[in-house]
Amino acid sequence: MDIMHYYSFQEELSVQDEIIFRGERAVIPDTLRNEIIRRIHSAHLGVEGCLRRARECVYWPGMNEHIKTFIAKCDICRSVDVKQQKETLHPHEVPSRPWARVGTDLFTYDNKDYLITVDYYSNFWEIDYLPDTKSSTVIRKLKAHFARQGIPDVVVSDNGPQYNSQEFQRFCQLWEFQHRTSSPGYPQSNGKAESAVKTAKRLMRKAKAAGEDPYLSMLDHRNTPTEGLKTSPAQRLLCRRTRTLLPTRDSLLQPEVKQTTRELIDRQRRQAKYFNRTAKDMDTLKRGDRVRIQPFDPHTVWRKATVVNPVDHRSYAVQLDTGGVLRRNRRHLRRDQGTAPSVANHTVTEETHTTPETVATPDRVVGDTQQTVTTKSGRAVVRPGYLKDYAG
Ligand SMILES: [Zn+2]
Repeated sequence: MDIMHYYSFQEELSVQDEIIFRGERAVIPDTLRNEIIRRIHSAHLGVEGCLRRARECVYWPGMNEHIKTFIAKCDICRSVDVKQQKETLHPHEVPSRPWARVGTDLFTYDNKDYLITVDYYSNFWEIDYLPDTKSSTVIRKLKAHFARQGIPDVVVSDNGPQYNSQEFQRFCQLWEFQHRTSSPGYPQSNGKAESAVKTAKRLMRKAKAAGEDPYLSMLDHRNTPTEGLKTSPAQRLLCRRTRTLLPTRDSLLQPEVKQTTRELIDRQRRQAKYFNRTAKDMDTLKRGDRVRIQPFDPHTVWRKATVVNPVDHRSYAVQLDTGGVLRRNRRHLRRDQGTAPSVANHTVTEETHTTPETVATPDRVVGDTQQTVTTKSGRAVVRPGYLKDYAG
């Protein structure tokens, strides 16, 4: 160890259980650094997350650079989900305390069904393996969480049969919580659970690819300070850090109540501002406006088209000059000067059903009917009509 380097902050150094600490951070000797980096990155979280986590509990000269270099070379991170997913903005009020509002959803991973339960306040989520997708099974899993964390004021879910059952209704009444389901017009109102599912699946995929224990990955994730906040999900829900495989000083593991509501609101405001900035400047199009359609393959041309009618406030039915009607999100349409070729007036069948997730679907022909199909977990989903020729 380079003694001279430590000389400059010798008064910050202390010893506990044969480990040297600089303030609250364990000073990691040369020989252990590679192992510690491996542990910091064992859940394959992104660079920033790993740095936030490392800075809380460990220290050595040049640590940040070492971590960055290590992650840049990580095979798993490059092979699984290269695209770094940004947490999407879901406008909703910030609850005033942990576990007041909880979102829940079912998902399938590796041909197995799971339940996700996520706290709106802390973003702490739990995964349960579901041996079957019966309402009673989901209820039993939720009860276990509520017995541990308390009964939430509000439970948010979609309209899956597990949540639509009489049994679930009875559960709401007996356990005295409000149940809010996403309405067809607002499927994104269950966005909290859906974005937790994305995070959970990515974590599970990486753990599998790396041969790591997915539970350790979850533990790491829960103890990683959230971007834009000073606390981790564990700190926000449990009011303490929980012990991980990183050397962590006792004092850091002590319970501590952090006031995060203010921080959460500020963060949400910042996100909304950013969101609105990017959403702005997209002026409304009207019938007859000439547009160019952004190609999905960047090497092909922007095709010319004419707006036939708005489908909703963000997407439009457009008539291609070469024939055919497509539906496109506003951000894939660019205003174009010039006049439309003289084609007969096309009428577009009114949409039978509009779901936001199909809005940006490439080359979807407007006017097709949609079918409802049942997924493996027994939930009815609306299938866009353009898939109707494929086996469901
Ligand atoms: Zn990695």
